[in-house]
Amino acid sequence: MKKVSMGTKAIWAGESDYLAFGATQVPVVHSVSFGYDDMDEWYEVAIGNKEGHIYGRNTNPTSQAFEDKVKILEGAEHATSFSTGMAAISNTLSTYLFPGDRIVSIKDTYGGTNKIFTEFLPKMNIDVCLCDTGDHEAIEAEVAKGCKILYLETPTNPTVKITDIARMAKAGKEAGAIVIVDNTFATPINQNPLELGADLVLHSATKFLGGHADALGGVLVGPKELVEPVYHYREINGATIDPMAAYLLLRGMKTLKLRIKQQNENAMKIAEYLKTVDWVDDVFYPGLEEHQHHDIAKEQMKGFGGMLSFSVKGGVDTVRHLLPKLQFANRAANLGSVETIVGPSRTTSHVECTPEERKAMGIPEGLIRYSAGIEDIEDLIGDLEQAFQSLPKELYTSV
Ligand SMILES: *Cc1c(COP(=O)(O)O)cnc(C)c1O
Repeated sequence: MKKVSMGTKAIWAGESDYLAFGATQVPVVHSVSFGYDDMDEWYEVAIGNKEGHIYGRNTNPTSQAFEDKVKILEGAEHATSFSTGMAAISNTLSTYLFPGDRIVSIKDTYGGTNKIFTEFLPKMNIDVCLCDTGDHEAIEAEVAKGCKILYLETPTNPTVKITDIARMAKAGKEAGAIVIVDNTFATPINQNPLELGADLVLHSATKFLGGHADALGGVLVGPKELVEPVYHYREINGATIDPMAAYLLLRGMKTLKLRIKQQNENAMKIAEYLKTVDWVDDVFYPGLEEHQHHDIAKEQMKGFGGMLSFSVKGGVDTVRHLLPKLQFANRAANLGSVETIVGPSRTTSHVECTPEERKAMGIPEGLIRYSAGIEDIEDLIGDLEQAFQSLPKELYTSV
């Protein structure tokens, strides 16, 4: 499917091998096991000499169709799926990191990932080095000291910072590290880390890939040689995706390009609108020229994504008044859905931190994360306008 463009791939890729009975849609195969009358064939499949399925914890046709679609969209050789995005991350790290190893990453990774780095890996005697996000020199210096894995995420939560993937991949290669990128925020429509030199790419498919906030899942793609050991870890340890979830994610992905195009456009217009609102102190969106990493984003991304954040005058009190006033937004911890989703960073991505820690990380208490949906932009802006107009004036001058 090399010459086919992304929107067409999103619809057709990975499906034809799994159709049966003339169905035009991939079936949801709920069977836990797969039977064989021929003992020799069963044996050949079981030892991996012949294609086929044995047991649902290992492989499933619906889940494989989902894996194939992501694999083709990311331009990868191989893929494997997981019950959640966190399972993709933890299984990948557990496959490759052993006591005494070192991993280099950034401070702004997803909250759950950060917990793995700060709570679980140190217990296993794994040395975790977290650099300031966007400080490329610091990351290069730490990587050059030697590490097994360089783990990146870009754009990041909640201030949408950008890391130069090509530059970091080069540093990682020189140090002999496996370079992993969490591509959840960008999706393969906006960013292709494998083309930029990353070794492995993973996703929380729960977010933009599925796009409808109705199924959890994770996926890892890359060269077969690097993905297969993680598949093996997962098939034994059991963080397997449910076939129904795999189906929902597969179906969601058919509209991936349309959704991302609309979310890119909506996020840009929302960011520009927010800049004109006097209640708003700061707007963080990589599509804005004044964003600290706009130039890198322009270079490595095909679109700036659907995620942005902004801080408001009056801090938490203003947030408390503003968000419930929005008619076309879910107030929830999720992101990347067709509906617009809003939430305070202190409640969503950085709920585990103290106010002092958030301050040190450059996250104002009044910071709002905004995941642009695919609604019509005039309704989203109108919604924000009426919400800002409803704010009590005395909050404006409070801290
Ligand atoms: C949500 C998210 C995850 C974790 O995914 P789950 O499916 O919730 O386990 C990992 N990385 C990023 C960037 C996320 O937004």
